[in-house]
Amino acid sequence: MRILVTGGAGFLGSHLADRLVADGHEVVCIDNLSSGRLRNVERLAASGRFRFIEADVLDPLPPCGPLDCIYHLASPVPCACREDRPVATLRTAAEGTRRVLDLAAEAGAVFLLASSSEVYGNPRTHPQVETDAGRVSPVGPRSAYDEGKRFAEALAAAYARQGGVKVRIARIFNTFGPRMRPDDGRVIPAFIVQALAGRPLSVHGSGEQTRSFCYVSDMVEGLLSLAGSDYGGPVNLGNPDEVTILGLASDVLGLTGAAGGSEISNRRSQISIEFLPPRPDDPVRRRPDIGLAQRLLGWQPRVPRAEGLKQTIEYYRSEEPVA
Ligand code: UDP
Repeated sequence: MRILVTGGAGFLGSHLADRLVADGHEVVCIDNLSSGRLRNVERLAASGRFRFIEADVLDPLPPCGPLDCIYHLASPVPCACREDRPVATLRTAAEGTRRVLDLAAEAGAVFLLASSSEVYGNPRTHPQVETDAGRVSPVGPRSAYDEGKRFAEALAAAYARQGGVKVRIARIFNTFGPRMRPDDGRVIPAFIVQALAGRPLSVHGSGEQTRSFCYVSDMVEGLLSLAGSDYGGPVNLGNPDEVTILGLASDVLGLTGAAGGSEISNRRSQISIEFLPPRPDDPVRRRPDIGLAQRLLGWQPRVPRAEGLKQTIEYYRSEEPVA
């Protein structure tokens, strides 16, 4: 197949591109390199089945040739946009997604939207189910990303209803692995970089808030399965293995050798941690209900958190400069 990945030089996009090229597909990647990096995809050129185009989905799209499938991942990373790029984030979600949907309509391609668990905001359900309509502040500090993703879902659903576009909507929960930027503000790269540098881990709030972290190879598998299905509604993709942020800190300290793992659980005084003010509107608990993905796609994550963390730590040890 000929496949377009927008945001294909980013963390998740580049792992997806790796897999698609390895599976024998021809892949075109569009990325404006705002957070993506050429080095994530450089070696794919040798396959002869990969083309990189530096472009912004906000601009008229370059000619991409015939397409069977589009994975639309292009978006500023959530942390950055909370702080300094809310307008660009909303524009990318609205205008950028419209452009890519138009392209899908024109090409008759399947369109997979990389949506997010952020559409649930501070959720009413736990674990979160797709039927939960979400609870998001339209004007809060996370609203640009959250409402942007909500709008992108609405737009995709409208193109499916009105334009007959074959839309797939992946609600992606926290995903991690090699190639996350060390400075992107997300908790796993932050903790690993801090631990490797011998600095205290920066925990926002009490650290009792939870997340459920999915290793990137599992997420890629989920995206492929969803794109290959004929289901048009939103589908949660993530790993239901829920952990507190303090629990995660403990894992990272143990696995990097920055602390003896068994000593640190429940003994805050011994944890090398710096407590910082809570992030505004930080969801208290997050865990995907993946029943729908299991039934529909026969998909479920396989990589345990500790294994994924080991791979990720290894990457930062060998590839990323530790500040
Ligand atoms: N967090 C933290 N220290 C950091 C970065 C994040 O304690 O250096 C917390 C953050 O407040 C949140 C959780 O870790 O409760 C996950 O944050 P992240 O930005 O990785 O993902 P998201 O909030 O988008 O799920």
